[in-house]
Amino acid sequence: MEWKGELVNEQRTVKVALLGAGSVGSQVARLLLEDGEEFSRRAGAKIELVGIAVRNLDSKRDVELPRELLTTDAENLILQADFVIELMGGISPARELITQALESGADVVTANKALLASHGPELFGIAERVGAQLHYEAAVAGAIPIIRPLRENLAGDRIERILGIVNGTTNYILDRMYSKGDTFEESLRIATELGYAEADPTADIEGYDAQQKAAILASIAFHTEVPLEQVHREGITQVTIEQIDDAKRAGFVVKLLAICERVPGADGAEAISARVYPALVPEAHPLASVHGGNNAVFVEAAAAGPLMFYGAGAGGIQTASAVLGDLVSAARRHVLGGPGLGESMDANLTVLDSGEIRTRYHIALGVTDAPGVLAEVARTFAEHHVSVSTLEQARTEDDHAATIVIVTHLATDGALQRLVESLGELDVVTRIAGVLRVEGGAE
Ligand code: NAP
Repeated sequence: MEWKGELVNEQRTVKVALLGAGSVGSQVARLLLEDGEEFSRRAGAKIELVGIAVRNLDSKRDVELPRELLTTDAENLILQADFVIELMGGISPARELITQALESGADVVTANKALLASHGPELFGIAERVGAQLHYEAAVAGAIPIIRPLRENLAGDRIERILGIVNGTTNYILDRMYSKGDTFEESLRIATELGYAEADPTADIEGYDAQQKAAILASIAFHTEVPLEQVHREGITQVTIEQIDDAKRAGFVVKLLAICERVPGADGAEAISARVYPALVPEAHPLASVHGGNNAVFVEAAAAGPLMFYGAGAGGIQTASAVLGDLVSAARRHVLGGPGLGESMDANLTVLDSGEIRTRYHIALGVTDAPGVLAEVARTFAEHHVSVSTLEQARTEDDHAATIVIVTHLATDGALQRLVESLGELDVVTRIAGVLRVEGGAE
């Protein structure tokens, strides 16, 4: 017998208000209007788009939308909805509108990482209090399913570490520097021309976007509120082509990573760390083969082992897929009843300061080419209790100067900074050519 899908309960209609019709919102609207019947079958109730709130009715859009659905009165639109999809971005008025929607009992789907990273606990608190749902699959890594796998599929496991390439702009730039030998400035210019970088690229290249995503991922993975300001952040603007070449020669690729991990805290108590910086990743690591503007999230779970989630981290239509996935599954839950999985933030683990985190370092030093130099550099490492894993001469600058590259064993950020200061004061060191951390390899 042919299966015709579950019958839609015609009595039930799920009314959806869309806030925002930009890159993502216009695609969500288009798909809802074109494929609404199909989504309704999957949800088990009729999904009806009742209106779309925008800032300006006459803005130029990627998709032509029925004029009668557009409104500038978001507050009034929310009053008519069972579901609100927030795709305006920014903090205000998104925060107030989501609050209004939740308070009215509507479920909310959002892709707003900036809002969740700064006001997530407040909004989840409201949702919990009123028994509404707040879904945000699209807030991290666009189309890639990562929120639901962490919250639901891995709810019976223990996540040890997450290494994420969660910003496509910076991955495009670093990949271009690595594969084409272009400088950072040149790679950024091309990224902007090709639409990978926005006119103001600050949020991407300074690591703010990745920092927001790291805060969200760490909170879910470790069942602990991780405030944005506790996520250490460094961008990629200081990464030089020389560092990329040195890394390549040593068998590494440079990636901007969002790192969330369990770490030993004071007195051996369990703690966590969330941080964002450019780091060397071994060429054999799965993250090293993430090219162009793609994203990937590498998860290490105690029972499941290593898992890799890979794909498009941005783009209107791609991100719309994650938004609509949330809508259909939430609508189904809405129809069938039941509260679903709440946010569990009860582990309350301490978030360690980045100075206390132990990592390996890749240090490139310009030194005078004279006898005794290596002994002096090695003595300085020993004085700061940082042990050397490998040391090699990367290149000779001229008859009197060379660049040496040292990879350390595990050391704290604090010890490393004191070491680098002391190295800079040595007469035999002509310059600190670069310091990057090493992640994703053996210790
Ligand atoms: P966008 O292109 O800038 O669109 C924003 C939309 O919101 C526009 O339609 C705008 O109206 C409307 N809007 C802004 N302020 C408003 C206000 N005060 N009242 C009513 N409407 C308002 O943004 P987007 O790129 O689609 O991103 C939307 C969200 O998705 C953001 O949170 C973003 O971080 C997230 N996200 C985006 C991507 C991506 O690839 N773009 C990927 C993942 C997550 P007008 O059209 O009239 O100006």
